[in-house]
Amino acid sequence: MELFAVPDLPEIRPDDDLAALIRQRVDLRPDDVVCVASTVVSKAEGRSADLADFPAGPRAREIAATLEQATGETKDPRFAQAVLEESVEILIESPFLLTETRFGHVGVNAGIDRSNVPDGDLLLLPKRPAESAARLRSGLAVDRVIVTDTCGRPFRHGQRGVAIGWDGLAPGRDWRGETDRDGRELGVAVENVADELAAAANLIAGEGDGGTPVVVVRDFEWGDHDESDAHFREIETDFVRQAIRDWSFD
Ligand code: GDP
Ligand code: MN
Ligand code: MN
Ligand code: MN
Repeated sequence: MELFAVPDLPEIRPDDDLAALIRQRVDLRPDDVVCVASTVVSKAEGRSADLADFPAGPRAREIAATLEQATGETKDPRFAQAVLEESVEILIESPFLLTETRFGHVGVNAGIDRSNVPDGDLLLLPKRPAESAARLRSGLAVDRVIVTDTCGRPFRHGQRGVAIGWDGLAPGRDWRGETDRDGRELGVAVENVADELAAAANLIAGEGDGGTPVVVVRDFEWGDHDESDAHFREIETDFVRQAIRDWSFD
């Protein structure tokens, strides 16, 4: 399998036809997996915003005050308001804001980004990244598209790419029922291929001024394995989230 970045993409603007800009720069094959950083999906979808768009309500002011106290840094209540409006649940309020977005992804500050955003104070994640992936897939005429974001993970330093939207592939490769080298049946192994490909793509894309938000994964083969549609955990099987709920803020 081979990964490479699409070269020479311009700064992406609202209403740009991102698929067309990509197609002009690379000869895609139908079985390529095209990984697109959410930053440019958001830019094309007009998801840049200004802090002034989010007048802070009482809850946002309360959150910002708590964060200021915990971190000793100045926190803009309008930023907290933007996070609230993008979210359906606050998991952690302090010393950082961890929420579930409207489409099921849990991330710090609801994934609202302030790097690589020339047109506004903020860049919100795509509203429905799975739908973004589906549109890109048809515009690119490829079988599989993944929309990625760079995220921290609990228990580990640093960040990596994760899949926040996908189309044309199941996120999980299900090894359950297959056997290991000793003939022992695998009971729990469901490999999150969407996240693995997103992490590999993020490795090529980088985080700074590289200008390489789109990475093509060529000759990735699924192999003879079952598929799993599961990606974002639902609360019933999310014991970490249950523990967090029990732990603090009510
Ligand atoms: P995120 O991981 O989705 O938050 O995106 P990043 O801000 O980390 O950017 C990922 C890559 O895309 C980096 O190489 C950036 O330089 C690049 N990038 C971000 N915005 C643009 C853009 O509008 N045009 C181009 N060509 N590259 C961009
Ligand atoms: Mn960014
Ligand atoms: Mn981001
Ligand atoms: Mn990134």
